[in-house]
Amino acid sequence: MVRDVPVSEAEGLIVLAWRSGEEGLHLAVRGQPGEVRLRCRCNRSHWIVREEFSPGGARLVVSCHGCRTGRDFVLEGAELPSR
Ligand SMILES: [Zn+2]
Repeated sequence: MVRDVPVSEAEGLIVLAWRSGEEGLHLAVRGQPGEVRLRCRCNRSHWIVREEFSPGGARLVVSCHGCRTGRDFVLEGAELPSR
């Protein structure tokens, strides 16, 4: 089950896992069954995704390839890069 979520309503999601494919960016989100597919307001929904690690925790940073709308989410369960 995949639910489309507009990026404007995606504030505060806690992302457990993500995958990016032809159908868009799919997120497994804490507290929600199934997957969420992030939709951009420009409707292109081609996301540039990166994971950022800092002492405060990991974040998933996304920005729209089309209109540069950006968001970032708490990324839970991500492994810190080994050092
Ligand atoms: Zn966009």
